[in-house]
Amino acid sequence: MTSSRCIALIAHDQKKDDMADFAARHQSTLANWRIVATGTTGGRIKAACPELEVTRLKSGPLGGDQQIGALIATGEVDMLIFLVDPLTSMPHDVDVKALMRLATVYDIPMALNRATAEILMTMHAH
Ligand code: PGA
Repeated sequence: MTSSRCIALIAHDQKKDDMADFAARHQSTLANWRIVATGTTGGRIKAACPELEVTRLKSGPLGGDQQIGALIATGEVDMLIFLVDPLTSMPHDVDVKALMRLATVYDIPMALNRATAEILMTMHAH
């Protein structure tokens, strides 16, 4: 099923196993969404769920977070699941903050941890 709704998926390195597991568990729900992801996260999702179509952008530290922020600003992303690692400092911290800021500005549903991501998927499961 195709849909114009678009979900952005990002996971920091320590959360990539979690994201792969999340995507596999919710594969049937995610199949109803257009999926965009940062480069490495998208690769992991594709490996876990080969049937899902995933548009992979640049890796986060190389501009992928900003690309997703730009898609939010132009109204092309309807929901963000961003599994963040709160225990590691990152060179692209400003990009991470900017992305969260834009998701707030444009008031799209944004999950920053697995528990909230699960709730969003439950709400959108059919
Ligand atoms: P990545 O980017 O999926 O390319 O690792 C995520 C990030 O660290 O922002």
